[in-house]
Amino acid sequence: MHLNYLALAVPFFLVFIGLEYLISQKQGKRYFKFNDSVTNLSIGIFERLLDVFTVGMFYYVYAYLHTRFGIFDIRPGVLLWVALLICTDFIWYWYHRLGHEVSLFWCAHVVHHQSEEFNYTVSARITVFQAFIRTGFWAILPIIGFPPGMITTMLLVHGLYPFFIHTRTIGKLGILEYILVTPSHHRVHHASNPKYLDKNYGDMFIIWDKLFGTFQKEEEEPVYGLTKPLQSNSFLWQHFHFILEMIYTVRRTDGWKNKFKVVFGKPDYVDPGAREELESRFLIQNHEKTEMSKLYNYVLWQIAVTLMLLFTFLLFENYVPAAIQVGIALLILLTLINCGAIMEQKQWVFYLEFARYGVLGLILLYTWPSPLLFSCELILLLTAVYFQAGLKQQYLKLVYGELEP
Ligand SMILES: [Zn+2]
Ligand SMILES: [Zn+2]
Repeated sequence: MHLNYLALAVPFFLVFIGLEYLISQKQGKRYFKFNDSVTNLSIGIFERLLDVFTVGMFYYVYAYLHTRFGIFDIRPGVLLWVALLICTDFIWYWYHRLGHEVSLFWCAHVVHHQSEEFNYTVSARITVFQAFIRTGFWAILPIIGFPPGMITTMLLVHGLYPFFIHTRTIGKLGILEYILVTPSHHRVHHASNPKYLDKNYGDMFIIWDKLFGTFQKEEEEPVYGLTKPLQSNSFLWQHFHFILEMIYTVRRTDGWKNKFKVVFGKPDYVDPGAREELESRFLIQNHEKTEMSKLYNYVLWQIAVTLMLLFTFLLFENYVPAAIQVGIALLILLTLINCGAIMEQKQWVFYLEFARYGVLGLILLYTWPSPLLFSCELILLLTAVYFQAGLKQQYLKLVYGELEP
């Protein structure tokens, strides 16, 4: 059987998150906030899912660059693995630093910094856009001459490391603080205190920050999140708000040179008033409403089922036909949008539910193409459409309780 054992990363992460949660409870600390953790996991789930479709493509890019432009013919050896680790970490430093200093790249990286909490779930908060930008940076490696097999193995190991530094449960680590990027260093990176801004970009070794003058020790307790918090649980808004803010500013800026500066300059050039303007245009509400256990349960169940689906899907990836893969991806995407929207008590979640069952129906029909199943689904659909108004009311009452207007 040809299983994808990388899927085991999902339960592995969950065990660590569970342990961290238990430790924080025991210490009487509140390191987890419901909305925050759910959105962190949602973003992570979707990124893992899209990886299925992109990893092969990235490998192909590295292989192409290596055979076409590779400068040296590097063969795996202990020293060369070490050299690759150092090169990877150095490129990461610049990839991450430019992710903060160039608006276009910040569009993708901002998502990682929206969380106002700091725990293992934050490490999952990475979008697929970042994978594309990162591949652009990693492209230097095959051009140097590192073979694609070596690169993808290294990226896997190197990519696992940052998971461990997203926690408040580990204090300072003595001598390691001088060599590695530790949880303490990365807490500083996620902080919005003025003295902590734009510091500690390193992934594994802290040396680059010291070398390029971006190092800052953790002194007072960090305040986590963006300097201007997003305060939105919307899955889509979290992904796209900064891109839209940038486009908004570009359209209102005169002259090509200035427009260029908005896209490729520091995020400071993006109009600070753009957010409010766009939020009112897209009816984004800036308040966290979830305080009801009913909602908690419904959202938690959805996330739990999605995680299980993701794990199974990744594990048996090689046996799932392409059409079903797309179907499952769509189903999970709709579920994640649904979780975000429910936490904001949106009325249109009802229609998302329709779309979700529609996709599920299509997946079932693709797997068992029988006229009986088709007729059953059609009857169900027609009944649901006919009783739509009543169903909607029932559904909203079920999910939101009596609170809804
Ligand atoms: Zn960052
Ligand atoms: Zn981080």
